[in-house]
Amino acid sequence: MAEASRCLGCADAPCIDGCPARNNIVKFIRQIAQENFRGAIRTVKESNVFAGTCAYICPVGESCEMKCGSKLDRPVKIGELQRFVAEYERENGFRKFKTLPPKNKKIGVIGAGPAGLSASFYLVCMGYEVEVFEAAELPGGILTYGIPENRLIPDVVKDEIEFIVQMGAKIKINSPVDDLNKFIDHYDAIFIGVGAYGSVKLKIPGEELEEVIQAQNYLKRRKIAVYNNQKPDIKLGSRVAVFGGGNTAIDAATCAKNDGSEDVKIYYRRSINDMPAFKDEIEYCKTLDIEIIEYMQPVSFQGENNKLKSVTIVKTKPGEVDQSGRQRPVMIEGSEFFIEIDSAIAAIGQLPTFENTDIVDVDKKGLILIDDETMKTSHPKIFAGGDAVNGGATVVKAVADGCKAAEGIDALIGKS
Ligand code: FAD
Repeated sequence: MAEASRCLGCADAPCIDGCPARNNIVKFIRQIAQENFRGAIRTVKESNVFAGTCAYICPVGESCEMKCGSKLDRPVKIGELQRFVAEYERENGFRKFKTLPPKNKKIGVIGAGPAGLSASFYLVCMGYEVEVFEAAELPGGILTYGIPENRLIPDVVKDEIEFIVQMGAKIKINSPVDDLNKFIDHYDAIFIGVGAYGSVKLKIPGEELEEVIQAQNYLKRRKIAVYNNQKPDIKLGSRVAVFGGGNTAIDAATCAKNDGSEDVKIYYRRSINDMPAFKDEIEYCKTLDIEIIEYMQPVSFQGENNKLKSVTIVKTKPGEVDQSGRQRPVMIEGSEFFIEIDSAIAAIGQLPTFENTDIVDVDKKGLILIDDETMKTSHPKIFAGGDAVNGGATVVKAVADGCKAAEGIDALIGKS
């Protein structure tokens, strides 16, 4: 409450502009200061049903908190205040939202990640019947299968999903939707939230060796074990080289270190300042003695008797500015060197896995094209959001997309 009372309640509320879900931060913080914790969590959930999850893993220093504090000596700890009210609710019981009378319309949601589940929750609140089809054994998408347990407590995710189910969303697990054509006619509208969790390959010799692992596979196999209270069945060696500069690379490296690998290094082909990973996560690496070596790119792996022995790396330097606005890394001729390693983890990017490109328009990368205001695709009754649309952003962005799509669907079919 002391922290909450530091909030100045700015009329222009720059913090809200910094939040993709447009969480009413000023209001929920005022409610905390007034000791109205139930009201505060409700305010957050009106725009973000994954209030607890996001309170653990939102990059607040690069979003809402970055925008706060021009008139204060330091920003208000918005993330910690949100975590406090989310934990308050987990301890004292979730309270259901009132739903509108049934609209007798059925929505099909494909993918039970944060985007799909957020759309489901807000649609249920509006009175729609919602069926969610999830390819995996557990719902939650990357919350369940990607983000490590040291950053996001699995029970927080489980409880928030359980709340959405209690509200009325029906989740069918082990139910991949491969052919949209067979699906469309059963529903009044469809939301696609299938993410983009395919792996970009390094495409270099030796990548096929067993000890060269895709980060997505590594993180997923670890998390499945965590969920089953087992030790991960994927064992890395003592010397691990991770290639990449995003959150996936950082998570893979920190998990490797926390799981017992002694010497873990991250190699990135641009500068550390160009790394897309959250700044806090980069700092966390340093606390674990994980070295991040910039301007390095792997060119081949060498094995002996089909077992990984070493990796050859070439140094790079910044070249021309590319489409991403960053300087393209250029290999420096003759700078190759090799290092002995036991395991390598490739984490150089995510790929969309959406296949029904004959039904909705996609861009060159395979990302689904949508109208930004409504999240509607090129098909009149199909909406989409989350990583399948943006190629990989944040949980709060996926949640915001789901919420916006629910409004878009309601605007389209709510009155007919
Ligand atoms: P996903 O979470 O990928 O969910 C998609 C779901 O659709 C999955 O459950 C999948 O099984 C299912 N699916 C796919 N195809 C089908 C099909 N054909 N039929 C049925 N179901 C299907 N963001 C943050 O804000 N903070 C972080 O700290 C953070 N860390 C991250 C760490 C890692 C390792 C990764 C990879 C991402 C991280 N992100 C983080 C990004 C964030 O997790 C994603 O942006 C977010 O999960 C996207 O949500 P989504 O619902 O669009 O997709």
